[in-house]
Amino acid sequence: MAGRNHLYIPGPTNVPSEILNAMHVNMEDHRSPVFPELLTPLLQDLKKIFKTEAGQAFIFPATGTAGWEIALTNALNPGDKVLIYRFGQFSHLWAEMAKRLGFIVEIHEETWGKGIPLDKLEARLKEDPKHEIKAVLATHNETATGVTSDIGGVRRAMDEANHPALLFVDGVSSIASIDFRMDEWGVDGAISGSQKGFMLPAGGTFLAFSQKALKATENSTYPRCFLDLKDQMTANQNGYTPYTPSLPILYGLRKSLEMLLEEGLEHVFARHHRLAEGTRKAVFAWGLKLCAQPGFESDTVSAVVVPENKDAREVISTAFSRYDISLGAGLSEVAGKVFRIGHLGDMNDVSMLGALAGVEMALLDNGFNIKPGSGVAAAMEYYRSTAK
Ligand SMILES: *Cc1c(COP(=O)(O)O)cnc(C)c1O
Repeated sequence: MAGRNHLYIPGPTNVPSEILNAMHVNMEDHRSPVFPELLTPLLQDLKKIFKTEAGQAFIFPATGTAGWEIALTNALNPGDKVLIYRFGQFSHLWAEMAKRLGFIVEIHEETWGKGIPLDKLEARLKEDPKHEIKAVLATHNETATGVTSDIGGVRRAMDEANHPALLFVDGVSSIASIDFRMDEWGVDGAISGSQKGFMLPAGGTFLAFSQKALKATENSTYPRCFLDLKDQMTANQNGYTPYTPSLPILYGLRKSLEMLLEEGLEHVFARHHRLAEGTRKAVFAWGLKLCAQPGFESDTVSAVVVPENKDAREVISTAFSRYDISLGAGLSEVAGKVFRIGHLGDMNDVSMLGALAGVEMALLDNGFNIKPGSGVAAAMEYYRSTAK
């Protein structure tokens, strides 16, 4: 098919040509005297994206999933108790990982479509006077349901309960797209990955640890090797890595950081908000609903609920085979019930309108009772009225 397949899945996202070009490099000697000139500034600039000055940033040649494991195994001890709210496939997988790694996992079920309930969290932490809970695992942006939780609010709840647990945040589909303030929110472990807001291929886990979390790593007896932060720190100190780095990811990240910082983080967040708002206007004009309940809507991904007599998988498959666009599937509990539109990364008004037109055609093809052009028109009017 001529033209290109556009990714409107919430990761991997479209890689801008500037980044693709920057990644196209010959391999280099990662033990050479000039290698630190690449790595050291990357680790410094990453901190700006996490909004941390006090913390330390790390890069591992892995994916977001490894970031979860790094946080758990470097700062905790075997058998420690962790608390997590589960409201989608990603919070579910993180909870399952913690179980498989031998932690005691206190899972609180929350409706898929809602985020972390701050009042319940505060009440639960107040019931833990012995501080048996060692870490709170918070999924900032639940990519499966298009739900964003209030991490500043999580911090306030922990402080209200006077609880010393570490706060680990999965920001894989939020950091670099949605406002994230590591220092201000007292986040101890912030986890992200290359393939979403950073607009890179998968293959990089980017994370930052607070001084409190770094201190906890000194006493952690959890066995680890490839994902050990101490080895990273020792090597990073001199501008090197404990094993072979993924050079294309590092060169791509150099370009990605330049692009994000040049646009300005606040502008990046505002752009994502506009793209998301236009998408939501289209969804409502089609007479459809979001999986996210009011107040939890994500600016990086919208999970759209289809009527009960429809199968969202058909919409996704029509969109792909007839119109060459990729939409996100409903995962696990919401399989067939939702399709997801990713609106993050290298995206602007017109690319979003292309996505919405493709979705609209696929909906019409599948017999959805919608007015042709209604969603696209609603988004167009919103983008026109808010364009600079
Ligand atoms: C994509 C994603 C992950 C997993 O990242 P991988 O790169 O697939 O390992 C984890 N958490 C969230 C919220 C995600 O969106």
